[in-house]
Amino acid sequence: MRLSSRAQMISPSPTLAIDAKAKEMKSRGISVIGFGAGEPDFDTPDHIKEAAVAAVWGGMTKYTPVAGTNELREAICQKFKIDQGLDYKLAQIVVSAGAKHSLYNAIQVLVQSGDEVILPSPYWVSYLEQIKLAGAEARFVETREDNDFKLTPAELEAAINSRTKLLILNSPSNPTGAVYSEIELEALGEVIIKHDITVISDEIYEKLIYDDTRHVSIASLSQELKERTVVINGVSKAYAMTGWRIGYAAATTSVASAMADLQSHSTSNPTSIAQAASTVALTGEQEPVSRMVAEYTRRRDYALDRLRAIPGITCTKPDGAFYLFPNVKNCFGKSFKGKIINNASDLAAILLDETQVAVVPGLAFGNDDYLRISYAISMDGLKEGLDRINSLISELK
Ligand code: PLP
Repeated sequence: MRLSSRAQMISPSPTLAIDAKAKEMKSRGISVIGFGAGEPDFDTPDHIKEAAVAAVWGGMTKYTPVAGTNELREAICQKFKIDQGLDYKLAQIVVSAGAKHSLYNAIQVLVQSGDEVILPSPYWVSYLEQIKLAGAEARFVETREDNDFKLTPAELEAAINSRTKLLILNSPSNPTGAVYSEIELEALGEVIIKHDITVISDEIYEKLIYDDTRHVSIASLSQELKERTVVINGVSKAYAMTGWRIGYAAATTSVASAMADLQSHSTSNPTSIAQAASTVALTGEQEPVSRMVAEYTRRRDYALDRLRAIPGITCTKPDGAFYLFPNVKNCFGKSFKGKIINNASDLAAILLDETQVAVVPGLAFGNDDYLRISYAISMDGLKEGLDRINSLISELK
């Protein structure tokens, strides 16, 4: 049976491939340290689980409106108002099966064959595949480590041409942890308005933000930017709810209704029970989020110090999300037990085979000079994994 050209275009997720290999090693009794995870290691808070149980017994087990229950969409509108000062109507909110699904719907309704989408690199791996699935083309813009991997207005403007339709911004960023400030977003906003392009602002890590960094949504900066932005968010990362599959988008009424129409012919509404739990996640006590953020901060500080102490490794300080993105270029040209390291993928393979530490090579995010290390792992795991990385790198010849 022949697959469609669309299906043949899709690359399997390299992050999931690393994860699968690590899990397979674990199942053989090998002590693997998994730095590959893109999900919180915490459990979903109890009050959210209880809301789901109550929803089951309360009969919330039927189809809901395609774009989500009124209760959840009201909670989302309220969240936007409180956190970002943004006013959205219910008709501007579409709830989907995870932020990844929201992104898929948004990209499908915004771009088509012949269009270009600006993708600042390093980028989260699914953006590229979703752009290709919509028939559009990605125009990569390499960001610089010495600018904390943030796109500058000049870089953005240089990448725009007559085919440019869309820019994808992700703040806090996966994989770099970079967070754009209000001033930086304003400067990008001027270019966006000048060239009248649309922005997808992926804010899924909004709540996982450290020290005195403030999260700003580009949509909140002006009416002109709000009208050009589709905000993507969800409950997966902030509330440790990756398995519940609830994400959402806020957009103009016409974009939101196109996304809901598309969803009406694919998945229909996301799970009614998970929607009830997500309503409580957004409206209930937020103390569990603060507790998780405090623990992520402790781990980030520890892991950053350890990585920076390894000779040859440089690493920017992430202000959000739960990843470190160390530059390992100084290891290239060296070898371990005769295996030469030419790029981060080689190093990641040696780390997994020789020390049983699973990290994701930067190739997955468009730059193979880096590794992505997730600190959504216990402090003990973090210590052990960094010990192993440190001793392998010091043994390179
Ligand atoms: N956007 C980014 C940048 C992510 O890292 C992820 C998950 O890894 C998602 C979106 C998808 O989140 P969800 O689990 O809600 O689909």
